[in-house]
Amino acid sequence: MSGKKSAAPKPDMTVKQFKETVIKHLRSTLGTYEEKASKQAWNQAIAASVNEFIFDGVSRTRKTHAGKDARAVHYLSLEFLMGRLMSNNLQNLGLYELADKAMKELGFELADILEEEPDMALGNGGLGRLAACFIDSMATLALPAIGYGIHYEHGLFRQEFFKGRQVERPDQWREFGSPWEICRPESEQVVKLYGYVETVYENGGSHKVWHPGRTMRAIPWDIPIVGYGGHNVNVLRLWESRADKFFDWDVFNSGGYVDAYTESVQAETVSKVLYPNDETDAGKELRLIQQYFFSAASIADVMRRFRNAHGNDFSKFTALNALQLNDTHPAIAIPELMRVLVDEEGISWAEAWKMTRETFSYTNHTLLPEALEKWPLRMIQHVLPRHMEIIFEINARFLKDEVETKWPGNDGIKRKLSIIEEANGQMVRMGNLSVVGSHAVNGVAQIHSDLVKKDLFPEMNELWPGKFLNVTNGITPRRWMKACNPRLSTLIEKHVDADWPRYLEKLTALKPLADDSKFQKEYMAVKHANKEDFVKVIKELTDVDVSADAIFDVQIKRLHEYKRQHLNLLYIMALYRRLLINPDYDMHPRVFIFGAKAAPGYYLAKEIIFAINKVAEKVNNDPRIKDKIKVVFLPNYRVSLAEKLIPAADVSQQISLAGKEASGTGNMKLALNGAITLGTLDGANIEIAEEAGEENVVIFGMDVDEVVETREQGYNPGHYYQNNEELKAVLDWLDSDFFTPGEPGLLSAVKHNLVDHDPYMVLADYQSYSDAQSKIDALYRDKKAWARAAIINTASLAKFNSDRSIQDYADTIWNLKPIKAAAK
Ligand SMILES: *Cc1c(COP(=O)(O)O)cnc(C)c1O
Repeated sequence: MSGKKSAAPKPDMTVKQFKETVIKHLRSTLGTYEEKASKQAWNQAIAASVNEFIFDGVSRTRKTHAGKDARAVHYLSLEFLMGRLMSNNLQNLGLYELADKAMKELGFELADILEEEPDMALGNGGLGRLAACFIDSMATLALPAIGYGIHYEHGLFRQEFFKGRQVERPDQWREFGSPWEICRPESEQVVKLYGYVETVYENGGSHKVWHPGRTMRAIPWDIPIVGYGGHNVNVLRLWESRADKFFDWDVFNSGGYVDAYTESVQAETVSKVLYPNDETDAGKELRLIQQYFFSAASIADVMRRFRNAHGNDFSKFTALNALQLNDTHPAIAIPELMRVLVDEEGISWAEAWKMTRETFSYTNHTLLPEALEKWPLRMIQHVLPRHMEIIFEINARFLKDEVETKWPGNDGIKRKLSIIEEANGQMVRMGNLSVVGSHAVNGVAQIHSDLVKKDLFPEMNELWPGKFLNVTNGITPRRWMKACNPRLSTLIEKHVDADWPRYLEKLTALKPLADDSKFQKEYMAVKHANKEDFVKVIKELTDVDVSADAIFDVQIKRLHEYKRQHLNLLYIMALYRRLLINPDYDMHPRVFIFGAKAAPGYYLAKEIIFAINKVAEKVNNDPRIKDKIKVVFLPNYRVSLAEKLIPAADVSQQISLAGKEASGTGNMKLALNGAITLGTLDGANIEIAEEAGEENVVIFGMDVDEVVETREQGYNPGHYYQNNEELKAVLDWLDSDFFTPGEPGLLSAVKHNLVDHDPYMVLADYQSYSDAQSKIDALYRDKKAWARAAIINTASLAKFNSDRSIQDYADTIWNLKPIKAAAK
């Protein structure tokens, strides 16, 4: 291949200048000097040096957009799972190699210094990481875009294990401040809560006035988001809550010093901590307040910017603004925009509603009933009395003007489509509100989008043909290949253009090399070197010794029954049992690697973690099986750990029950880095199989139709338990004290859940899974066939570039065009 042109600019800086800049910051910004500085100080000095480039980019991009009065998208998300920023920023600015050389000359390994940066874990899992990949792509595509979220003081908890059980510790990502954030006090907003609504009659008409019971301040912190190539630098704006005034002086003067302080503590609680529930709705008032707090502050910010340019002429509002809801978490922004337009701007309801619908679009992320948000009507009435009135009005008009017109006299359909659910003492359905208030609704993989139309909102789809779309998720190849897998990136660059991290389809040039034995060897040597590196990480984190010659079989994702980590566990136990029965049982050695946090209140998920840890302890210390199986559960799975593990993975376990995983993105990261997918026909696995070819993935289990059929016939897990000898044996093992000596029954909860209920049909898919695992073993032993399949995966994953996802959003939902920031 020819042409080594890079999308990254050559920064006009030399190694020597970079060194000087770092030392300048070490002395003048950090207040230390070379001989004394800690690694952390060096890290901060590098960050300060990089910021010289970034801040300039922020200003140039801002000016360009302001000058052009550009249409922009506002991406509202309660979660942004950013991980570390330094390596990505260095890569996207084209500074990485320079910084690496500079630090070497100063006597350090850059990679070592990068370890000092805490993860910015302001999210739970897939949904939050998607938002992070998306803002990277928006900046890379030079789209006028801003991410809006919450500046949580504590992100997702740090996970430790104590005697095999998960313990949650507070996350402290900005204990000593973060070099990447810029406070913007000049853009502070006020957010109102509680109180009552007054109807004011004047001039023969009436309008509503909300008298809030309290107010608080929203302080914006901007995190610059550097696009690949460094031209465009967008921002992620995160809101911090503060007390309206630090002290209520009246209370203070009458001797209530502590009471006055309590007031401020309450306001600061709002942005204190991320809710650690993934795919479940906790229904807590503080969570509703978090949702409203950041939605209201963000809408106010959009309004401020618009009024600065257009005063109170709102004719261009919809032409200039798109608002994207990442799940229903920010759905309260819909009535908030209505409130601002109608109550504050005096725009008619009909006009305001048209504007609102044209502005909003909504991404659905799940079909799981426990994740579909519903708020008690009484709670919204109490916290946001005016919004509850607006929701009633939206609902009344929707049912009368749209549902009644389409289905006259059909109360059943009205009950089903109503934003208000009459059961359980009245609940507000945020999904229905989001669909009704948006012009576009998308699912996140083709099968999921089909199910959203067919099962979740079939009548809404009939009412508004064309409103429901698919945008398959993606991942940024900058973080998930270029930065995390330098060895493979270097190998790739010998054969394809250097701008592949921007144009991932260029990797198709590797396909002809899939059968080239020299390239196969080089490719597998990279994998082996990555595994050697990760062997050390495993040792450090778990004290378990593993061999890089074993198959690295990886399942990394939140712990959830629908993701079926316990299916993986049952198979591990079965393999172990086979080896005990027959020490010569023929298999390639395997290391099963888990990484997963459980929501702190999710009982069974925590029991599954405990069971895996107990089985691991036994298996890893049993000399009879001669190290043929190792099981490691890595504590505190997070973005920075994923970046180390994914380049070393051989097998990617994506084994959710068909129909339950909306898309998945871990599946994409792993396949791009050459892991073979062992998966069900669920989420984006289906599209990965289409792109890579079915012969280069291993598919097992029921598909969605078979799951439905099995359920309709009356699913009976006991049948599988009784009729599969191996399955029965391993389930019964969980009741014994084999893995918990002297304490039988400690692992019984997992067994009884499966034998008695098995809501995610683990037992039904067990045999098929076990057979698929045998296929993996056979394929791995055919070295050439394995290398070929892995290479084809890497070469075929362009579709899952998040740049492609964002281009789809820009074209089909946002109607948004790029505007490249002016050069210096
Ligand atoms: C990508 C990613 C996820 C999502 O993984 P899935 O397998 O798609 O559920 C979760 N957590 C982290 C840290 C990730 O990087």
